[in-house]
Amino acid sequence: MRNRSGAVTADAVTIDGPKERNCLRCRAVFPSEWIGERICRRCKDSQIWRSGLPANFSVVR
Ligand SMILES: [Zn+2]
Repeated sequence: MRNRSGAVTADAVTIDGPKERNCLRCRAVFPSEWIGERICRRCKDSQIWRSGLPANFSVVR
């Protein structure tokens, strides 16, 4: 009996949930853990990324 209102909405999961996204640098598809993960691991490793992106970081769909 888990039918209780107030559960996590599917929309939130769809937006922020882990999924495959395209890297902003090499455009390769990589498993992203969340919507803020826009750079694939390879690019991150090859470049020095500062911890935390700017607040006005444009979210490109
Ligand atoms: Zn990349």
